[in-house]
Amino acid sequence: SIPLGYFGGIGRSSMQGILVKGSNYLDVLASVTTVAFDKTGTLTEGVFKVNDVVTNNGFTKDSLIEFAAAAEYHSTHPIAVSIVDIQNAKGEPVQESKISEHTVRSGMGVEAVYEGHRVLVGNNRLMEKNGVEYQNKNYEGTIAHVSVDGKYAGHIAIGDNLRSDARQAIRSLKDMGVKEVVMLTGDNEQTAAAVAKTLGLDSFHANLLPEDKVDYFEKINSNNRDSGKIAFVGDGINDAPVIARADVGIAMGAMGSDAAVETADVVLMVDSPLKVAEAISIAKQTRRIVW
Ligand code: ADP
Ligand code: MG
Repeated sequence: SIPLGYFGGIGRSSMQGILVKGSNYLDVLASVTTVAFDKTGTLTEGVFKVNDVVTNNGFTKDSLIEFAAAAEYHSTHPIAVSIVDIQNAKGEPVQESKISEHTVRSGMGVEAVYEGHRVLVGNNRLMEKNGVEYQNKNYEGTIAHVSVDGKYAGHIAIGDNLRSDARQAIRSLKDMGVKEVVMLTGDNEQTAAAVAKTLGLDSFHANLLPEDKVDYFEKINSNNRDSGKIAFVGDGINDAPVIARADVGIAMGAMGSDAAVETADVVLMVDSPLKVAEAISIAKQTRRIVW
């Protein structure tokens, strides 16, 4: 039978907007020694603003934005939403009928055909994979490169704010004895390093594809096997596989994807990293009562 204390733990969690899908996850949460965070939408707000638009090879800013918005039209990624918004703000929304062959390149960007032109929008890796000569290789910040029919059209420099309570969340986790707080991100090294420094993270890994995040997870998992449990926290935009693989998978539920909410062991009803510390704290208190 399940000790009564567990119901108390699950009940207390749910009152704080923390949905724990089983008493076993309270046990795992109480034993967490490593917390791995996704970056975009988890430690950051996942709302991008445009800082700069730079064109190349004779493209105008207007045509660059139009091609980019068309390629991003069908994507739900926060970067896509921000780029489509710029085009919409001009009062000339992209015509859906002109877009074909849309494909998401997970952890890299998107690809689509717009008015017969093959358009790519994404990071350095997407450009390299497709042999596109691009510029601004070491920019600190997130860059959406745009290529049209294999030609580099330019890039859109975008920025995403850190969540206001992210720093405090990391500090709380360290204070309660979590040994390692790490960030796993598909974004570039420079941006990841800046975020890690600002937030006081123990370590970070950049340029990861969604499958690299799973691989990384399996590695730390086998190294850490005896010394504690590992939590992964994500918003679920392409990180449902890692959420599934973690000892305890935590999804930010308010803005997060349905797949993540379904896969996760713990769902946060408020998109706040501070809730992760709160969940672990409640779990530890519950264990003291149960044992
Ligand atoms: P994170 O790991 O930080 O949550 P993602 O895995 O969602 O980030 O994406 C990794 C990187 O891939 C982004 O930083 C961005 O450079 C690029 N990217 C992903 N999706 C898109 C998109 N729709 N448009 C442009 N770039 C994208
Ligand atoms: Mg993400």
